[in-house]
Amino acid sequence: MLYDNHGRQISYLRLAVTDRCNLRCFYCMPEEGIRYVDREDLMSYEEMERIARLLAPLGVDKLRITGGEPFVRKDILEFFERLSRIEGLKKINLTTNGTLTAGHVQDLQRLGIHSVNLSLDTLDRERFLQITRRDAFDKVMTTLDELLGHGIPTKINAVVMEGKNIDDLVPMVELTRRHPVDVRFIEEMPFNGQGAHYAHLAWDHRRILAHLQEHFPAIAKVPDPPFSTSRNYRVPGFLGSVGIIAAYSRTFCGSCNRIRITPQGMLKTCLYDDGVFNVRDLIRHGASDEQLRAAFLDALANRARDGFEAENRRRPVQESMSTIGG
Ligand code: SAM
Ligand code: SF4
Repeated sequence: MLYDNHGRQISYLRLAVTDRCNLRCFYCMPEEGIRYVDREDLMSYEEMERIARLLAPLGVDKLRITGGEPFVRKDILEFFERLSRIEGLKKINLTTNGTLTAGHVQDLQRLGIHSVNLSLDTLDRERFLQITRRDAFDKVMTTLDELLGHGIPTKINAVVMEGKNIDDLVPMVELTRRHPVDVRFIEEMPFNGQGAHYAHLAWDHRRILAHLQEHFPAIAKVPDPPFSTSRNYRVPGFLGSVGIIAAYSRTFCGSCNRIRITPQGMLKTCLYDDGVFNVRDLIRHGASDEQLRAAFLDALANRARDGFEAENRRRPVQESMSTIGG
């Protein structure tokens, strides 16, 4: 089993399969985009599958495919199929912007994708265009309909942004009235490819909750699943739930069970660290499984206690979240 130097077990791997994306979300990338990794520098599907096969017997039983936008990578469904055959992997989840996902939802179900996180920051077409800089609102809503229609457990991820989508918070909670969907409001982090947008965060988890309580006085706390990054709530009588993720305030590091691998193979033992070692390079230099395992154990023996310590150890955050996977 994989434990870090603070006694936390690692059971969850987030794989960012590409840094490419067809949207330009304000909080993730500058309008002109970012310089993408050369294709030959991306991890191959074989390399990613090898890592998943290596970590599964060490207790990593949950995997999330993210990006960039996973569906812009060629043959992504074949990759899901390969992952679905790995023994010991109990849950394979997907995070997607939903613009290229409609029409594939049945395939996701067939391949045993356990749940989908759909990124959707607004229910207003015009605001969608302003935030993502692309006119793709209808496609995302079609994807949402298909996910709900097929009964796939679905979470909606909405980044909360001063001056952009505050008017959406109440309508998004309203979505949970008739749909069994989890809407999660996420504090904005400075991973936009340019560095922090603001001197301080206007909408932290406390203010988000106060806003929801003002409009839904009956909203009540519900138990959080193990290792949850969200604090979870429900309006009595509503089918779905509401979560708040203190991604910038970092209130959940004490129970963090996750590691990340970037599209070019950097292992991150914390979202806020700078990358610990490059797994792809080790693989391409011919490392044995034993050597790879030793590298993971070594990295976890030096894991930062929390996101603040990780951030203090590095140069200032400049990168885009599409190079990390969220
Ligand atoms: N393209 C896919 C999508 O948008 O769902 C997957 C990758 S995206 C980087 C993963 C998640 O990170 C999304 O839910 C997105 O909202 C979130 N994210 C991106 N930049 C963020 C930021 N600066 N602060 C908070 N969340 C962010
Ligand atoms: Fe693309 Fe996802 Fe980043 Fe938006 S958040 S630009 S959809 S990678």
